[in-house]
Amino acid sequence: MMKIVNTIDEVRRQVREWRKEGLTVGLVPTMGYLHEGHASLIDASHRDNDRTVVSDFVNPMQFGPSEDLESYPRDIEHDAALVEAHGGDLIFHPEPSEMYHDGFSSFVDMTVLTEELCGLSRPVHFRGVCTVVSKLFNIVQPDRAYFGKKDAQQLAVIRHMVDDLNINIQIIGCPIIREADGLAKSSRNTYLNSQERQAALVLSQSIFLGEDMVRKGETNCDAIISAMTAKIKSEALAEIDYVKIVDCKTMQQIKQLDRPALCAMAVYIGKTRLIDNFFTEDI
Ligand code: AMP
Repeated sequence: MMKIVNTIDEVRRQVREWRKEGLTVGLVPTMGYLHEGHASLIDASHRDNDRTVVSDFVNPMQFGPSEDLESYPRDIEHDAALVEAHGGDLIFHPEPSEMYHDGFSSFVDMTVLTEELCGLSRPVHFRGVCTVVSKLFNIVQPDRAYFGKKDAQQLAVIRHMVDDLNINIQIIGCPIIREADGLAKSSRNTYLNSQERQAALVLSQSIFLGEDMVRKGETNCDAIISAMTAKIKSEALAEIDYVKIVDCKTMQQIKQLDRPALCAMAVYIGKTRLIDNFFTEDI
C-alpha cells in the first residue's frame, strides 16, 4: 500500500524499516502536479529499486520574488493516484515549515554551472534546488535518485553537487517525455490557453530543427542557434529568454560542437516561461 506522509520523522522511520529488511530505495524529487514525465522517473526507480519514495513539494526557496510560487498548480489526490499506479511506495508531502524551520540559515550554493542558461534569468533558483535536494538526500538517504533531462541544467548541477560534496547516491538521468505533438510535458503547460498551447509547439519544433542540423553534420553553434531562433521568432506569441549551446558538463557556452554539448532554450509564451533542450550525444 502506498503511503503519504508529511513529516521528516515518518520518512526516516519508514526508510529505516526498509533498510532493516535489506531493501534498496530510489528517490524521485518533484514539485507535484504529476504527469507522464514524472511517471517515467517513478517507473525507472521502480525498475531499479525495491522501494520508491516520491517527494511532492513546491519548494519556495527555488522561486524568485516575481515568479509563480503562489499560482504553481497543486493536486495531491491526483498525484497519489499516479504514484500508486506506477509502483511508488511513499509520498513525502511536507509543508514548507517542515522543511524550513524558523531560523533556517544554511544553503548549498554552486558557482560556474549555475551562472549560465536558467541561472542567468533565475538568480536564486539553483541555490534553492541544491539546498532542497541536499535536504531530501539527507532525509531519505536513497541508493539512487532520478531526474529528468527536461531540466538538463538541473541534472548537470545535481551530478556536480553529488561529486563535489561526496554524496553517495547514484544520479540517474531520464529522457524527456513529450505530448504527441512534441511539446515537452510540464506542470506549467496548464497555464497555457488554447492559442498559447498551439504557439508553444514552436519550442519543440525548433529543438527538432536543431537536432536535425546536428544529425546532418552541422558543427557551427551560431548556425544552429540562428536557425532555431528564426523558427521561434516566426511565432508572434513567443519571446525568447535564451537559446544557447553549452558544454554539457560545465554549462559554459561553446562555438563548435567538438565535445558533448547541450542545446537549451527558455521561451516565454505569453506570461508562461517554458524550457526545452536536446543533447548532441547521449550522456
Ligand atoms: P518538477 O516537478 O517539474 O520539478 O519535475 C520533477 C522531476 O521530473 C525533474 O527531475 C524533472 O526534470 C522531471 N520531469 C519534468 N517533466 C519531465 C518530462 N517531460 N520528461 C522527463 N522528465 C520530466
